[in-house]
Amino acid sequence: MNRSILHLDLDSFFVSVERLADSSLFNKPIIVGGNSERAVVAACSYEARKYGVHSAMPIRMAKSICPEAIIVRGNMDTYIKYSAMVTEIVDRYSPLYEKASIDEFYVDISGMDKYVKSSYLWAKELRNFILKETNLPISFGLSSNKTVSKVGTGEAKPNNHINIPYGSERQFLAPLSVKKIPMVGNKTYIKLRTMGVERIRTLQEIPQDLMMKAFGKNGILIWEKAQGIDSTPVLKDIEQKSISTERTFEQDSCDVKQLRNIIISMVEDLAYKLRKLNKMTSSISIKIRYSDFQTQTKQMRIDYTNLDSVLIKHILPLFDKAYSRRLLIRLIGVRFTNLIVGSYQLNLFEDIESQLRLYKTVDKLKNKYGKDIIFRASGLP
Ligand SMILES: [Mg+2]
Repeated sequence: MNRSILHLDLDSFFVSVERLADSSLFNKPIIVGGNSERAVVAACSYEARKYGVHSAMPIRMAKSICPEAIIVRGNMDTYIKYSAMVTEIVDRYSPLYEKASIDEFYVDISGMDKYVKSSYLWAKELRNFILKETNLPISFGLSSNKTVSKVGTGEAKPNNHINIPYGSERQFLAPLSVKKIPMVGNKTYIKLRTMGVERIRTLQEIPQDLMMKAFGKNGILIWEKAQGIDSTPVLKDIEQKSISTERTFEQDSCDVKQLRNIIISMVEDLAYKLRKLNKMTSSISIKIRYSDFQTQTKQMRIDYTNLDSVLIKHILPLFDKAYSRRLLIRLIGVRFTNLIVGSYQLNLFEDIESQLRLYKTVDKLKNKYGKDIIFRASGLP
């Protein structure tokens, strides 16, 4: 059976939400981002993109290439509220969906044609419901797989949609830049260009072996995507509400320095797990069990994050507050709750690009060599 996979993506989501609150922001170059010296662009409007502004660019640079841009300090809580609103609508109508990021969804509507006139019609209806209920512009691509639909959404934007019928995937992709393939990042793009590959058409015609030689296993995947082949399933988000870890000591301890170091390494483990799950937390708690089995828990609300440095900054004072009895401790636990789907992009309010790049590199190494390959020096047991 041919699959029918829909990809929905809200257009310049943060900007669109800001415009709901302030209509004077329409049709103007808007930049959403933090207001510190080191802040970067978290999102920008299409009007600002025309000047070359893009997300993750330092705001200072964005201001210099687009001086008339209006800088808006973003509010993550509001974005999360609107994201939940859209998710609720997708959830109400869809048989099987996956929330891929704060503003992006995949819906598997295979077999829908049996019940409605066409899956394309159904997708347009869903988009209309979202538009009507939230006033947020949204685009979609519909095809037989995730990759082609996602590329389709990108081509349809802003505020539009596209249907790529089964059998025409290859043809649809052919004239586009290889940069449009979701797996092709900057490095891969540059390497492909040195190989003389600029359009997907060229990539479609080169032998698979060549891609294997140049990029290894990823090369095969990229080559397949270029052919419009992708069998990745739409996975329903596991509704995990929290993650936690605990450690019971062989010998009860009141060595604060050592306890703090243990907490740091626990946070590092959990934060890495969060990033792997593509999630962020906004509520952290610490649990202390004393040698007399009395247990104390302290919890605090923080801005959504999945970065070790931010989490450690909050958890250590929380531990100091919780550790009030100055008795021996037999168990320590750390828990993150209020999890939402979200990735590096959403950390842009609190951190600079170089730090995010560092986390990406660290995670890559952890994925490859195991999670204990890298930890901060202070986390040493
Ligand atoms: Mg979007």
